[in-house]
Formats: sequence, structure tokens, C-alpha cells
Amino acid sequence: MGTRPLLNRRLAGHGTTIFAEMSALATATGSINLGQGFPDTDGPQEIARAAADAVLSGRGNQYPPGPGIPELRQAVAEHQQRFHGLAYDPDTEVLVTAGATEAIAAALLALLEPGDEVIAFEPFYDSYAACIAMAGATRVPLTLRAPSFRPDLDELRSLITPRTRLLLVNTPHNPTGTVLTPEELAAIAELAVEHDLLVVADEVYEHLVFNGRHHPIAALPGMRERTVSISSAGKTFSFTGWKVGWVTAAPALVAAVRTAKQYLTYVSAGPFQYAVADALRLPGTYFENLRDDLRRKRDLLADGLAEAGFQVFRPEGTYFITTDITPLGEKDGLEFCRSLPGRCGVVAIPNVVFYDNTDAGRSLVRFAFCKTDAVLQEAVTRVRRL
Ligand SMILES: *Cc1c(COP(=O)(O)O)cnc(C)c1O
Repeated sequence: MGTRPLLNRRLAGHGTTIFAEMSALATATGSINLGQGFPDTDGPQEIARAAADAVLSGRGNQYPPGPGIPELRQAVAEHQQRFHGLAYDPDTEVLVTAGATEAIAAALLALLEPGDEVIAFEPFYDSYAACIAMAGATRVPLTLRAPSFRPDLDELRSLITPRTRLLLVNTPHNPTGTVLTPEELAAIAELAVEHDLLVVADEVYEHLVFNGRHHPIAALPGMRERTVSISSAGKTFSFTGWKVGWVTAAPALVAAVRTAKQYLTYVSAGPFQYAVADALRLPGTYFENLRDDLRRKRDLLADGLAEAGFQVFRPEGTYFITTDITPLGEKDGLEFCRSLPGRCGVVAIPNVVFYDNTDAGRSLVRFAFCKTDAVLQEAVTRVRRL
């Protein structure tokens, strides 16, 4: 095969995700896995039953329409109106994808030219760097720094160059739990308009804001025509294995994203699309209970980690708590996470793998709290042995 590497240079360095390594470690050691962000209880029974009914009654078992089934596109449009006051045409402004992951990939592959620069908050969600690389573009990190993890908007301005094409905004932010304020979003939107930038907004935690609420950047002046908003059923309905996501955007943007999407998966998750249409129409109490329940879990784990000696940055949203291990006499998050299963039977994720500026993330470690209370309590008991 010669000496040329098999993996092309765009993907070099994106070999395996930290989740594969840490989940394997969790299995091998029988540890509690607070690494990967998936709930350990399934979403609503009636929604699971709707998916089963769809399979058994033959709805969606064959290729659904490319843009997604009309029922789901209609339900996504209603959801955007109901929760955010945003009006989207289900026929031209909504696209169903294989989770938010495919929506992110399709948006970046469709909208970027090689050599374009993409500004994204770091720590990055792990698929961003790989997708930007696959598009041949360059990522430019705007570092969210402890203890506040707020974006420095002057720094953002200074990072914009003539090559900047796109801002990749994630709020609520994984892994820091930062929820952008209306003022921060307005400042970001102004820069996008001033420099004619596209925005891809990853909003998969839109319903997991513990105080106040999520503000979609697409709602701000001048943003509707330049923003691709992305969300997903995985986190909101606790069915991360279903991989049903969606894009809402102006028709030209949806058409661009659809062009890439149709050659990635073409379509996916036929019967689940029917069930997610039902889920999006659940009463307000469902969404309130989900949020209140996770807020309580956040506090359970945050208090326990603080008692165990971690510096805890209590998140405003998402499934995750970021901590600093320095007070435990530790410096290196990666080493710490590799040793933690052996030391106390708990798996966490070192935030440093989500940074280009590794110094900013070296001693930070992320724990997921989307787990049953019993699991969280046991994890707390174990880390207190440290
Ligand atoms: C989980 C997650 C995704 C992926 O969502 P899927 O619908 O499972 O593909 C995207 N972005 C962020 C920030 C996430 O945490």
C-alpha cells in the first residue's frame, strides 16, 4: 500500500473520539459512566408506543420523503412558533435530518468552501472540528474561559477576517453549560450582519435551560436569512438512539443544506419521525418537568462533586457539569480521567480534548448528570473517596 497514510489529511488527528475510549474503560472496569451524555431512562412511554405503532402499521418503514415526513415538518414549524415565536414554512423552511449530527455535517459541507474560516466557541462539541475539517475549512476558536465561560465579544470581533464565512454558535453550550444572554446574542448577531456572516446555531439543549429560557439567535434582526437553526429529539425527549434532528432556516439555506444531506443519508428514521411529531406536540408540562427534573439532578451531582473537593462550575443548561480538579491536587484532566475508573469506579470526560488552546482546558473535567438519582448518588459516594 506504499507509504501514503490511508486516512486522508483532512481526517488525520480525528481518529477516535474520547467517548469511545472512556466508554470502553467504563465497561472494562464496571464503572459508572458519567462520560457520554445519554439518559439512562427512556423518554415518554406514549412516544415509544407511537414509534412501535408506526412500525407495526407500516408508517415510515419505506423511504420517507427526502425533506422529512410532512407531519414532522409541520410539528417542527409549530414547535418553533409555540416556544420561540418563529414562523417557518414546513414545506420550504424545515428539513429533517439523522440527528443534529447530520444537520451540522450537512450545513458545514454545504455552506463552506475550502479555505473558509469558521469561528466556534471552544471547548467545541466533538463533531464540529471534524466536520469543519471535512469541509476543508479552518476552525478559529473563541475560547470560553473559566470561571465564567462567557464569550469575550471584543475577542470575537478581533477574530473576524475577510476569510471568515460562518459563526458556529452553540447555546446552551456543551460542555460548559453556558447559556448566551439576549445581550450576548445581540452582539454576535450585529457582528454577523456587519460582516455578512452565516450562522449555524446548535440548539439541541433548547429545553434544558435551568433559569430563564433559551433565546434563538434566528429571532434577532437581520438573522433569519443568515441562520441555520439546528435541534434534535435526542436530548429533549430522551431518545438519543432515534437520531431524529431538524433544521429550520430560510428556503435558500434549507435548499443548500438539503443538497448535502441527500447524499449523506438521503433519509432516516422513518417510523421515529411519526413519533417525534407527536412528541413535539406534548403539553408544556412535559417540557417543564424535564427541565425541573434535570435541574434537581444538576444540583445533586454539583453538590456532591463540590463536597468531594472539585471546583464546580454550576451549569445554566445542558446535561453536563464542568469541574476543575486543581483543588484535588491534580493538574491534568486527561490523566485524571484515565485513572478515575481504577481509583473510584467513575468515568468522566477531560474537557481538554475539546480545546485547541489546550492550556485553557487542561485541568477541566466534565460529568453528565442525565442519569437516575440512584446512579448519581452512588457516583457521589464514590468520588468522595478520592
Ligand atoms: C448531543 C449533541 C448533538 C448531537 O445530537 P444528535 O441529535 O444525537 O445527533 C449536537 N450538538 C450538541 C451540542 C450535542 O450535545
